Amino acid sequence: MVKICCIGAGYVGGPTMAVIALKCPSIEVAVVDISAARIAAWNGDELPIYEPGLDEVVRQCRGRNLFFSADVERHVSEADIVFVSVNTPTKTRGLGAGKAADLTYWESAARMIADVSKSDKIVVEKSTVPVKTAEAIEKILTHNCNAVNFQVLSNPEFLAEGTAVQDLLRPDRVLIGGRETAAGRKAVDALKDVYARWVPADRIVTTNLWSAELTKLAANAFLAQRISSVNAISALCEATGADVSEVAAAVGMDGRIGPKFLTAGVGFGGSCFQKDILNLVYICERHGLHEPAAYWKQVIEVNDYQKRRFVTRVVSSMFNTVSGKKVAVLGFAFKKDTGDSRETPAIDVCKGLLADGAAVCVYDPQVTEDQIRQDLAAVGEPMRQVGVARDAYEAAGGAHAICILTEWDEFKALDYRRIFDGMQKPAFLFDGRNVVDGGELRRIGFIVYSIGKPLDP
Ligand code: NAD
Repeated sequence: MVKICCIGAGYVGGPTMAVIALKCPSIEVAVVDISAARIAAWNGDELPIYEPGLDEVVRQCRGRNLFFSADVERHVSEADIVFVSVNTPTKTRGLGAGKAADLTYWESAARMIADVSKSDKIVVEKSTVPVKTAEAIEKILTHNCNAVNFQVLSNPEFLAEGTAVQDLLRPDRVLIGGRETAAGRKAVDALKDVYARWVPADRIVTTNLWSAELTKLAANAFLAQRISSVNAISALCEATGADVSEVAAAVGMDGRIGPKFLTAGVGFGGSCFQKDILNLVYICERHGLHEPAAYWKQVIEVNDYQKRRFVTRVVSSMFNTVSGKKVAVLGFAFKKDTGDSRETPAIDVCKGLLADGAAVCVYDPQVTEDQIRQDLAAVGEPMRQVGVARDAYEAAGGAHAICILTEWDEFKALDYRRIFDGMQKPAFLFDGRNVVDGGELRRIGFIVYSIGKPLDP
């Protein structure tokens, strides 16, 4: 029986391995993590991450051929294929601080693999890493004491949080990069065999190692660039009376452009886009490629501008101050259908509103109160002015304004008449995700701002 071990039981490691276990009953899959609490949650009734459909998959496989364990070394030493799906955040100090990827988690995982392995293994980069990381990993792995052979593959993950299970069951593509040697090709084939059990052959793409590593950074940069492009157009729409939804729909009808990922909003968030672009910028700079570096950096700058622009709009619309006013923040997750608030634009918006003296009251269906407080405390906000509500109605009670910051479906179906009646007047609604019907809300009496749409008459 083939044994797989995945180091890192996070947003990627957990769902990815659950789907491999589901589709490959003859493979034993162990997901390990240094966080005993995270492993306990994977083994408990409430999984540590919220993803539609994930509960069912985990329940079906857990204890059958899917195991979550804190015994990292044992499972690594027993595995034939070791995926490494640890976090690769942006470095906060030293060389490349603020841009380069922090590979300390990766390096310690690689050293541990080298130390505990007694049989040959395929080591798979699942984390997003800078191009050429495999070369560094190979150096660490080849200096092991047990004369073990390792083949390093790059198999970046393209799932999107909120649709992870569906993305894994029906991926646009599975990318595998390996060395162009006989041993490298054999390792690629072994990993292909795993995916081929449910992914059509034409969707499994093999490339050289560096292409696979760079593709992941490039893909995230392209996705984020589309968001910044449509957001840049949204500002021009507001200045001219054009409607960004109409513009984006018509632009997206061009077959060369396509309609997806063209929704204007308060800016992208999540743990990946910004860090991966910063990483790309850093790599370009290291190669002396300053113009490409400046190009990609601009994607982040437009995103920051969009978040600032939203806060400015809120404050300026409310007679140039939100001091002493209550603002209900609906949605804190960086997107709908996830409880993940890493790098969410909601943090920047709350920070901006608090800085102007507002009291914010946040409601999110999945992000916990502790997480919201932790995120805002981490950016230096005093908790005195921060409330967390159990539902949207409680958040909006007595508020001067509502800011919708995540496109949760439930925000489309709220009883806005009831909300309006409970608010201070004039009641403002700032729709940072363009989820509500501005016309309908204006008829109720709200003063409405939607991103990239004509302003209130
Ligand atoms: P995460 O923080 O949710 O999970 C990483 C896990 O690795 C943590 O639980 C941590 O405790 C564990 N870990 C760290 N060092 C370890 C070690 N030495 N031994 C055992 N466990 C260790 O991160 P994530 O969101 O799952 O992302 C993982 C990687 O995948 C990152 O490189 C990320 O860029 C990439 N990625 C993320 C997404 C996404 O949507 N989140 C999508 C594609 C790719």
